[in-house]
Amino acid sequence: MSLPEGTEPVALTFDCCGGPGGDTLDEALVKALRGSGTAATFFLAGRWVEANPALTEELAADPLFEIANHGTAHQPLSVSGASAYGIAGTTDAAAVYDEIMGAQKLIEERTGATPTFFRSGTAHLDDVSAEIARSLGLLVVNFNRNGDDGGTLPAPSVSDRLVGMEPGDILLARSNRPSGGTAAGVTAALPVLRERGMSFARLSDVLPTEAEQD
Ligand SMILES: [Zn+2]
Repeated sequence: MSLPEGTEPVALTFDCCGGPGGDTLDEALVKALRGSGTAATFFLAGRWVEANPALTEELAADPLFEIANHGTAHQPLSVSGASAYGIAGTTDAAAVYDEIMGAQKLIEERTGATPTFFRSGTAHLDDVSAEIARSLGLLVVNFNRNGDDGGTLPAPSVSDRLVGMEPGDILLARSNRPSGGTAAGVTAALPVLRERGMSFARLSDVLPTEAEQD
């Protein structure tokens, strides 16, 4: 998905997925965003929040940033146990509910704010799970630009992906893989995009919340 037609800014969205190899914050990436006054949305998995309570509070306290829900255990959402990218999905509707609301509760407890946007682990979810998320008041937000292929791309490739963005794009990249090229690529691309007149928005600046859509 992209932003509504006619939207001028782009939305940079960064996932903190947690789990083995992904339980930290890419501090250089956050520094690049702060240093250039670039707004962004961070999708936090519940397991990442539990591993990084202080950083969760720090991100949430920064008015440049918005916190969104990236699932509790970072599972693909399925009512039938379907897997995605080799990761086992949830098995039934009750597990879908838990995967959504577990992270919601962790983020609320830690930040005092209630997320309005949701992206499942791996960004895969089936139609029933999407309906469950909507019924819980969350807007499901995926992406139309992949910035770093799960944190695996070298910096020049990340920069190229960002520089290729058009107004209204939603970019996905990882903010929990500091060993990758994401931070350096974003740092290199931001001045180029600003030179072109690109602006940057948090999702709530450019998307209606689910309640407003009804
Ligand atoms: Zn993720």
